[in-house]
Amino acid sequence: KKIVIAIDGFSSTGKSTVAKQLAKKLNYIYVDTGAMYRAVTYFALEHEYIGDDFFKEKELINRLGDISITFKFNKAAGFAEVYLNGKNIEADIRTLKVSKFVSPVATLSAVRRKLVEQQQLMGKDKGIVMDGRDIGTVVFPDAELKIFMTASAETRAKRRYKELTDRGHELSYEDVLENVTTRDHIDSTREDSPLVKAEDAIEIDNSDLTIEEQLETIVGLAND
Ligand code: C5P
Repeated sequence: KKIVIAIDGFSSTGKSTVAKQLAKKLNYIYVDTGAMYRAVTYFALEHEYIGDDFFKEKELINRLGDISITFKFNKAAGFAEVYLNGKNIEADIRTLKVSKFVSPVATLSAVRRKLVEQQQLMGKDKGIVMDGRDIGTVVFPDAELKIFMTASAETRAKRRYKELTDRGHELSYEDVLENVTTRDHIDSTREDSPLVKAEDAIEIDNSDLTIEEQLETIVGLAND
């Protein structure tokens, strides 16, 4: 029987790495909801609704109807890449710049409403692994399996730093650590759908776990 698996947690806890492989193993669809918030942020940056010292929230909200986010499976990559109005932006949304502005954008209720609605549609037939911040609490409060991933802040910043430098970005470890902790703070203190562990979520601290060990644990829970 196909189920909904919700994976939530703070930034860079390795949610997407595990979620992607889990979906592959179970032959489920994987949805990266962070990519959707990043896509809206990319749009906002492109149209200069947000920048270092300004945030034209109303203007951005008025344009939400012009934002279409879709996913298309990339065989070579082995996962679905994100598209904004038909353009593949998978690589463009992984920059530190988008990471810097995404949490403020994600505080907007109008943005959340739009994306949550789309996420619920994507998961209506079950057989889905969705990762984010509010999947087990807001998007799918009835999900059959909820995981809350944690890892030490240092482990997380190191992972994100390696991921970004591997992709050729030039940045400092301190900038990455600062981004991760700032996002954690904004995400867990915002008014609409703050990041909290769902009461019935199972917490997995993966600081010292391999991906295989995490997969084994979650597959075991899914089969229960
Ligand atoms: O998962 P990722 O780190 O790519 O998410 C980027 C940001 O998008 C998060 O820091 C958070 O501000 C926002 N987000 C959210 N709700 C989700 C997924 C992501 O608010 N379900």
